Amino acid sequence: EEIKVIRIEDVPHFVGQTVKIGVWLRQKRGSGKIAFLQLRDGTGFMQGVVVSADVDEALFKLAEHLKQESSFYVTGEIHEDSRSSFGYEMAVSAIDMVGESEGYPITPKEHGTDFLFDQRHLYLRHQKPYATLKIRDEIIRGIYDFFYQDGFLKFDSPILTDSAPEGTTELFPVDYFDQTAYLSQTGQLYVEAGAMAFGKVYDFGPTFRAEKSSTRRHLTEFWMIDAEMAWMHQEQSLDVQERMIAYLIQRVVDNCQTELEMLGRDADKLRSYTKLPFPRVSYDDAVKLLQDNDFDIKWGVDFGSPEETFLANYYKTPFFVVNFPKAIKAFYMKRHPTRDDVVISADLMAPEGYGEIIGGSERDTDYDYLKQRLIDQHLDLKEYDWYLDLRKYGSVPHSGFGLGLERFIRFVAGEDHIRETIPFPRTLNRLHP
Ligand code: ATP
Ligand code: MG
Ligand code: MG
Ligand code: MG
Repeated sequence: EEIKVIRIEDVPHFVGQTVKIGVWLRQKRGSGKIAFLQLRDGTGFMQGVVVSADVDEALFKLAEHLKQESSFYVTGEIHEDSRSSFGYEMAVSAIDMVGESEGYPITPKEHGTDFLFDQRHLYLRHQKPYATLKIRDEIIRGIYDFFYQDGFLKFDSPILTDSAPEGTTELFPVDYFDQTAYLSQTGQLYVEAGAMAFGKVYDFGPTFRAEKSSTRRHLTEFWMIDAEMAWMHQEQSLDVQERMIAYLIQRVVDNCQTELEMLGRDADKLRSYTKLPFPRVSYDDAVKLLQDNDFDIKWGVDFGSPEETFLANYYKTPFFVVNFPKAIKAFYMKRHPTRDDVVISADLMAPEGYGEIIGGSERDTDYDYLKQRLIDQHLDLKEYDWYLDLRKYGSVPHSGFGLGLERFIRFVAGEDHIRETIPFPRTLNRLHP
């Protein structure tokens, strides 16, 4: 009878049976009598055991000489094994080499982060990146599912644009025939047009910002979800945001138990963040809280990393900071009904020091006001003519938000640095590999 070729994730269904799996060798240890092979295949990890007394000499020799990251088919019987961290192991009875590996650079010894990211194309094969990027995949699928179930239309914003709604200092220019285009830093304005056509829309794609300082929370290329809802006020938008965050956290807790364990991320703690509603604190009160805790911050200034980290440690749950000063927010945010100095905005902050993961607002609906705001901010009216049209032809209340995918993964996976959350991170100092 032909031996079945399976994948490691299916191993639990084959206990007591002999199967064949295509694998890479992570590590190997043993004595002259037994060899323990740490194996991976992309779907999971397991151990293969080769016992010299049970196999012919050639197989044992081969096993003993396998090199790190060489690839082969391994055949053997599956056993349950409570001692191995993955619960199963294989008693190896055959190895068929596929690809040799000589001098693999990421050895079991400790390596510096710079070295690991110089080797990112290989480092991806190791357990920590594996776990984090599996969680990334779960979150991405969760985002599509959440918006689909909630009646949103996927609406793609362009990546090449001629406008700079969040300011020009962080833009990457690109030659575009005889003019300059910019890589999109947000799809925000475009999804507003989408909301006027389809009601509730979201985009989900790469965005680019020339962040000139290196922090643990900024990439120059990152993925953003812009959601926009016609006929919805800020409170309804906050409701969508917190339901989405709770849903995504719950999905990871339910579907990524192994990965969370590999990362040492406490699932119970994560589950505690699904309790709704999230607290809302005004910018005014957040500034007072910071001042009371010896921060030298004046009303009117945006929070930097230290302020965000403090606030995000103070609250034991995700929370919204609402109604930021108008002067530090984008031109399109809606005026407060009774105060001229703040806008109806909200940033969602993650606890444990992780900080901002969402920025959002209600949008102003008034043509003349927005035109004046563009002029005040020295933005080119010609580039925004189409945007102003949205206020000319049936302007309605609408609200939306932008979620940074990698920021959210960093928080859920409990990563110290955002570079861990994307396959090939781009930062001030890194464009390779
Ligand atoms: P920050 O204050 O941290 O610089 P921001 O206020 O400039 O962020 P927004 O313009 O509000 O960011 O963008 C929406 C979301 O995109 C942010 O809440 C964050 O999750 C994410 N984001 C912004 N800049 C970056 C970046 N450089 N790298 C990764 N994610 C980012
Ligand atoms: Mg920024
Ligand atoms: Mg911010
Ligand atoms: Mg923001």
